Amino acid sequence: MKIYKDMDIWMAVGSQHLYGEEALKKVAANTGIIADYIGEQEVIPAKIINRGVLTTHEEIEQFCTEASADPRCGGVMLWMHTFSPSQMWINGLAKLSKPILHLHTQFNRDIPWEEIDMDFMNLNQSAHGGREHGYINSRMKINRKVVVGYWKDEEVLSRIAAWIRAAAARMDLYGAAICRFGDNMRNVAVTEGDKVAAHIAFGYEVMGYGLADLGESMATVTDGDIDSLIIEYLETYTVAEQLKPGGESADSLREAARLEIGIERFLVKGGFKAFTTTFENLSGLAQLPGLACQRLMAKGYGFGAEGDWKTAALVRAMKVMGQGLGKGSAFMEDYTYHLDPENMLVLGSHMLEVCPSIAGKNEVRLECHPLGIGGKQDPVRMVFDVPGGNSLNASIMDMGNRFRLLVNEVQTLDKFVELPKLPVARVPWRPLPDLKTAAEAWILAGGAHHTGYSKDVTPEMLIDYASMCDMELLMINEVTKIEEFKKELKWNDLYYTVKAFSGNV
Ligand code: MN
Repeated sequence: MKIYKDMDIWMAVGSQHLYGEEALKKVAANTGIIADYIGEQEVIPAKIINRGVLTTHEEIEQFCTEASADPRCGGVMLWMHTFSPSQMWINGLAKLSKPILHLHTQFNRDIPWEEIDMDFMNLNQSAHGGREHGYINSRMKINRKVVVGYWKDEEVLSRIAAWIRAAAARMDLYGAAICRFGDNMRNVAVTEGDKVAAHIAFGYEVMGYGLADLGESMATVTDGDIDSLIIEYLETYTVAEQLKPGGESADSLREAARLEIGIERFLVKGGFKAFTTTFENLSGLAQLPGLACQRLMAKGYGFGAEGDWKTAALVRAMKVMGQGLGKGSAFMEDYTYHLDPENMLVLGSHMLEVCPSIAGKNEVRLECHPLGIGGKQDPVRMVFDVPGGNSLNASIMDMGNRFRLLVNEVQTLDKFVELPKLPVARVPWRPLPDLKTAAEAWILAGGAHHTGYSKDVTPEMLIDYASMCDMELLMINEVTKIEEFKKELKWNDLYYTVKAFSGNV
């Protein structure tokens, strides 16, 4: 069973009638073998549907029209087994609205040096057929992913898998609704943005609600509902004594449970996939939702604090991309620095709302502490450490004429110290290539303080996602050099400015 049950990937092969019916039969048979093989691999997270061989203008146009119209089709994987003259593809490609992966492979891995003849040469023409196909895509300025290599290679399969994961995230947010309780944190710039532009770029709609709307949902929560959820908390987490039934802060935990059930009912009823809260809009709530946001993120909802709807959507996209990989993704913020020249680190966290999906097998404690802002009852939150390993932070900013996706690869560190007085989830990491370069580049790029942090999502998935959404992408990783990065920023500004005026870049 594939992870993405609502999405298929269509595979089709380009050819032509020049070589005779025998050759076309072989092309069709080989295509079936490759589509089946790829579809059967564990790493491939969606079903691969073999749509056969396309040999004429009409067949190609029909394929592209059907792929665009089929709500289950998440993307098309195209392979040129032989030469497929690309003028045949123009009308079809012009109509295609689904992501493209151009698989540049060959049925025979090796050239049979002793036996090779012109029949072999005519049947195995990917090397030049793929180039003809590449030309028309480039000529028509179509974003697509090109994967080169033998179709059984693990690296090839892993690159296809990353693209499928990005396509699933793209499809998931297309038509999605994102719920905002309250508005933006007052005066904050980077969490703001053009919601209509986001709808056009990503396909999701952002919908605002007053806290009274949430209050109506909270009013449906019964004492019995809360009792059941408290039992679940006690079974799942290490609950502080003061929060347990009979403890001095037991009411705070009951209030946190009421918030969780109320918010979840509201999100389920509205069909929302992500949501935001803000500590400046808490009218009618007894405490800032901390535990509720953490628990709902762990169930797969995207989340952004302080009204940050772009990060809420990104966290949802990252959760969809990483589905089934098991290490987790969370809302995050670069919180504070360790500037020891020998060991420069970032400590990532948030006031309350870090998703426990990244906790691995570490203990998750439910605690209740005063919160200096918001002016409400002490909120309940999960406190935990995170296992070390390769991770990344990603952020989306509205740059005025486009959205920019900024990604920094980081190395998360295993717990190396007790933090007895820190009442929040915490993640220490070392950014690549180093803290100074990474932070300088991040700030020069206008990168937000909020991010989606993931141990599942790879840079490649985000690169593919950006391409599918026609979004600017900037990577900060082990090869980043500040002076080169500054040039990239300037070139990109020029590109998107010209694009905005001409519509033809
Ligand atoms: Mn924040």
